Amino acid sequence: MRYLPLHIDLKGRRVLVVGGGEIATRKVTLLLKAHAKILLVAPSIEERLKETLADHDVLEDRYDPSQLEGVVLAVAATSDDAVNRQVSEDAQARNILVNVVDAPDLCTVTFPAIIDRSPLVVSVGSAGGAPVLTRHVRELIEQMLPERISRLAGFFAQTRDRLKETLPDIDARRRHTEDFLQTPGAEAAMNGDNRTAERFLFDTSHTNKVGEVYLVGAGPGDPDLLTLRALQLMQKSEVVLYDNLVSARVLDRVRRDADMEFVGKRSGYKSTSQEDINDLLVRLASNGKRVLRLKGGDPFIFGRGGEEIQKLIDGNIPFQVVPGITAASGCATYAGIPLTHRELSQSVRFVTGHPKDGKVDLPWKEFVHPMETVVFYMGLGGLATICAQLIKAGRDASTPIAIVSKGTTPEQQVLKGTLESMPGLVARTQIQTPTLIIVGDVVNFSKLAAR
Ligand code: SAH
Repeated sequence: MRYLPLHIDLKGRRVLVVGGGEIATRKVTLLLKAHAKILLVAPSIEERLKETLADHDVLEDRYDPSQLEGVVLAVAATSDDAVNRQVSEDAQARNILVNVVDAPDLCTVTFPAIIDRSPLVVSVGSAGGAPVLTRHVRELIEQMLPERISRLAGFFAQTRDRLKETLPDIDARRRHTEDFLQTPGAEAAMNGDNRTAERFLFDTSHTNKVGEVYLVGAGPGDPDLLTLRALQLMQKSEVVLYDNLVSARVLDRVRRDADMEFVGKRSGYKSTSQEDINDLLVRLASNGKRVLRLKGGDPFIFGRGGEEIQKLIDGNIPFQVVPGITAASGCATYAGIPLTHRELSQSVRFVTGHPKDGKVDLPWKEFVHPMETVVFYMGLGGLATICAQLIKAGRDASTPIAIVSKGTTPEQQVLKGTLESMPGLVARTQIQTPTLIIVGDVVNFSKLAAR
């Protein structure tokens, strides 16, 4: 290892920056974040930079070695190689750390790529040799570390002394802290609920083996539409309950060694009832498991998410709900249909078209406004009724309608017609579920756009 990463406390310490242009500005921004006391020197300095440094020392002049007096770090960011080299030599002769932008040979320190979740900070470096790769690695780590982890780091800092008193033995404390990271207490700290977090952190009796349920929206099918939060929890869970709507490609992203339980409907098998699913969630979590309940789309849109969390609330089980991209958003976008449009649609309505006792019983009269898009979930079985009722209630028979099958997946199909023609079209076409129905002038948007 050629460079040792050290995190330097620059608060109130003097840093010399030589240079007055854009690169100097970037370094200054970073140094200010670390609360350094800056002396900036350059024959000409950009106005914005001077304003940024209003509370610091700014010298519109040439660099001179005397400016290194009392400095802990010097940064040379000029476009003049001779000046940069001089700063490096002078600083090294005085044992002052020095960084020269874009010249690793002249540096005794380099600036790493930073993932800032203060107080948690991750730095990535490549001894100045591979800055693009360094940034790429930073992006990968950015995705892995939730923003909220900074709250957890803050929580640890706050409780550190008290935990030391509670558990004076350093090994015991480390083990306990590692265990704590697997409890709902860690998630609670990340969500800003320090009361719950403390309950778990300071319960050293190891009796708090309650698990947790994550009710997570998996989106409409394309795994790239998963949220970062969904992915993080998919990596963290020990048991996964999923149903038909969750695509195989999404399931591929779940931690390899998790127990996978299918709780949906499959032809030839008896489906798990909602009641049984609710009970199963409570039972698994009570046994200390971290349970992922993966739902297609968004859990709170026709997903019975409300019923599932009710049982968890009643059972005092910690849980989180993570929104997902609902089928209406995903399917419409992938089919090139904007759900609202300034000239075509002022509002959008999500409706369940699921027939009850063979009938689709809906307030049809409310769905007739020509400037409103109506989206039917679970509507394929009742399609003929939906079209007929909309026309009967007063929506124009020529209103465009689209059926999106297996939206956002590689097998996506889009069928377009009018309220009048669609039932006939569907009868002649093989359409695979799940399907989403979109009614309104926006359906023909791409045609309009092409005109
Ligand atoms: N919670 C889900 C909806 C569950 S209801 C969400 O927010 O998307 C199930 C209905 O969603 C299906 O009958 C279908 O109408 C719709 N749906 C879900 N995924 C779909 C997809 N990939 N393509 C088309 N329709 C989909």
